[in-house]
Amino acid sequence: MSKDLYKGYRDPCLSLLKRHDVTVWCELEAQTSRGEFHGLLLPRSETADPYHLVLKLDSGYNIGIRHDTVQNLKKVGYREANYKIPEQEFPRDPEKPTVRLFGTGGTIASRLDYRTGAVIPAFSPGELYGSVPELADICNLDTEKLFGVFSENMGPEQYLILAERIGEAIREGYDGIMIGHGTDTMHHTSAVLSFMIQNTPVPIVMVGSQRSSDRPSSDAAQNLINAAHAASHGPIAEVVVCMFGPTSDRYNLLHRGTRVRKMHSSYRSTFRTLGDIPLATIEDGFVNPIREDFAPRRSDRDVLVQAAFEEKVTIVYYYPGMQPDVIDALAEKGYKGIVIAGTGLGHVNRKIYPALERANAAGVQVYMTLQTMWGFVQMYVYETGREILELGVVPLANMIPDVAYVKLGWALGVHPDDPEAVRRLMSTPIAGDMTDREPHDGYLVLQGGVPESAKFFTNVWK
Ligand code: ASP
Repeated sequence: MSKDLYKGYRDPCLSLLKRHDVTVWCELEAQTSRGEFHGLLLPRSETADPYHLVLKLDSGYNIGIRHDTVQNLKKVGYREANYKIPEQEFPRDPEKPTVRLFGTGGTIASRLDYRTGAVIPAFSPGELYGSVPELADICNLDTEKLFGVFSENMGPEQYLILAERIGEAIREGYDGIMIGHGTDTMHHTSAVLSFMIQNTPVPIVMVGSQRSSDRPSSDAAQNLINAAHAASHGPIAEVVVCMFGPTSDRYNLLHRGTRVRKMHSSYRSTFRTLGDIPLATIEDGFVNPIREDFAPRRSDRDVLVQAAFEEKVTIVYYYPGMQPDVIDALAEKGYKGIVIAGTGLGHVNRKIYPALERANAAGVQVYMTLQTMWGFVQMYVYETGREILELGVVPLANMIPDVAYVKLGWALGVHPDDPEAVRRLMSTPIAGDMTDREPHDGYLVLQGGVPESAKFFTNVWK
């Protein structure tokens, strides 16, 4: 609700506070018709309604108390919160591996702004260390804040800078790279880095958090600590995502950068490896691979960085009833590549076939992926699939649509004038982006789901 909506309304909380002689930042005992609460009175968000007080309970959770339920407010203390975490110089130990942490923003670098009630990007990587001192037991950490954005604002411009800076850090001799990133589009960035940076000799570990560090259930510290283990002494030299495994805080999972996706808006265990099993678990400081086909850590510095991206690429998420003008408009606007997220095994309706044919004739590359997210594009099964293939649409096996989008942007960026080279790159797995088959235990198995489902079914079936 907008603040303006309440303009001219009496703020009953103000008179309530005056009556009881309390102000914000007072520690209160509040008696209400719904029980007694003890906590710190916080400034109310500017955009909130004027009828409630906000109390931060000792548990760390904030509650709203409606003004007309309040019977008494007793001041028992005063502490104005200072949410600024001091920037701290990282201690150095020549015995420990040295890791470079690039900050890009996101919740992992955020705190709650009590003025607006929103989460804002607030602290730099140095401040991150200030809030998670355990990192110093694992490695020497050099930090560099590249951006301070929520991850919806990451895009080709940032991808290029990030890839170049990582390449430089690898050549400088770092034992591992960490990237603090917003979770929303972490899988886009992990995929694009997997293509832009090939043959890395050291781990490139992306890490974020679903909940900011001022919340008691924050996953920020655990994710950072486990990511530091993976980056500094882990054996896997690939672009990976390190986030909560199960819903509990038992272990983290390392997911391959091209097979991972954010799958839940609020769970801490939101990242899942799709169509495959994750690379490793990290528990109590140990990185335990659960498969063998990973690229091992090396001591050379022979990394290949190809930072390029064609922005005129898009994903079209098919829906029944789609009209051909959607495709025509993209071709007319100069789009060079389209990734379709088709239904089932890779289908779109007959109505758009002529538009696909026109796009193909105009040199627009069109690729097919699946909205089901799991499984393979199989365009030979139905007659309609075969017809779509004949229109020049190229199937991409089990490549995740978001991954196909960044791969196409990258491939067209690397080969702007060579459509055949782009087609070859797209059809060849280069960073696990397509696999031969889905393991029988790949579907949400080994990802913290099984013990929880087992427990659930035991309860249901008893
Ligand atoms: N909106 C945030 C972002 O992606 C969410 C997060 O960091 O978890 O930047």
